[in-house]
Amino acid sequence: MDRLRAGSVLGAEGYVFELERRGYIKAGPFVPEVVLDFPDAVRELHREFLRAGADVMVALTYYAHREKLRDVGREDDLEAMNRQAVRIAREVAREGDALVAGNVCNTWAYDPDDPATKQTVRAMYAEQLGWAVEEGVDFVISETNDYLGEALIALEVIRELGLPAMVTLAPTQPDQTRDGYRYAEACRILAAEGAQVVGLNCDRGPQTMLPLITDIREAVDCAVAVQPVPYRTDAAAPTMETLRSPDGERAFPIALDPFGCTRFEMAHFALQARELGADYVGICCGAGPHHVRAMAEALGREVPASKYSPSMDLHPMFRADVAAKDAAFLHSWTA
Ligand SMILES: [Zn+2]
Repeated sequence: MDRLRAGSVLGAEGYVFELERRGYIKAGPFVPEVVLDFPDAVRELHREFLRAGADVMVALTYYAHREKLRDVGREDDLEAMNRQAVRIAREVAREGDALVAGNVCNTWAYDPDDPATKQTVRAMYAEQLGWAVEEGVDFVISETNDYLGEALIALEVIRELGLPAMVTLAPTQPDQTRDGYRYAEACRILAAEGAQVVGLNCDRGPQTMLPLITDIREAVDCAVAVQPVPYRTDAAAPTMETLRSPDGERAFPIALDPFGCTRFEMAHFALQARELGADYVGICCGAGPHHVRAMAEALGREVPASKYSPSMDLHPMFRADVAAKDAAFLHSWTA
């Protein structure tokens, strides 16, 4: 809360997407088995985001819940996976000045029409976050919530554990949660129930997520989070799930590359988000360290990875004094 009061907090997520691209997570189930199987890969990605300026190391416990682990036959590894994910995040956070966030997400077990599922979801959050608290987290992010009802269960569990809560909704629908609350109204309720940070994450790119933030900012007094995916969503395809290739194929989730935002677009987003009054500015699935560094620098920071930020004035072809023999190359580059 002190950091939020002092200025924007920069978040970096999308661990599952990035580690899938690197060959450590299976697309489809998207379960973070990498935490136990290749902990160094997780450590390295945390470190890359840390060097790029992320203020928070989010433990990779996304989808590390009972329902999902059962799908891949690793239910017995549930506790070890959750504990180790927090330990790795803590270890890297200490290499810099980052906070550690425990993490829970939508469970796919919640059904607003079946009250019995509330207990199932609550038990899943309680065991995951119980382990996270024992390993040591500063706060908890409950994210990609489709239902306000499910988000409220997470919030209740987090509050019972005595931790600050950041709760964000997945804006997959035009203007409301799957249980029928407009996003701003859902955020207002979450704030009233004690969430310290509310907002949106995932699914939408900057262009289609930012317009929703204005209403949320007006609806709450607490801190607002905005963590879009770095993909060029627009009015015709407002979410990454609706993006289509030129031949009509669905691009989500593993053919989104042609829609990727550049680092410059994400830097621009960070500034826009701050102007709209967002406090926790971040990035979700599809994020790379180059995006995060550009966002950090746009927000006026110099970060460890800034040492290697671009210096195109040192490029043989873009420098002021291009050698005559090299200048000829430029004709073919501009043809
Ligand atoms: Zn995401």
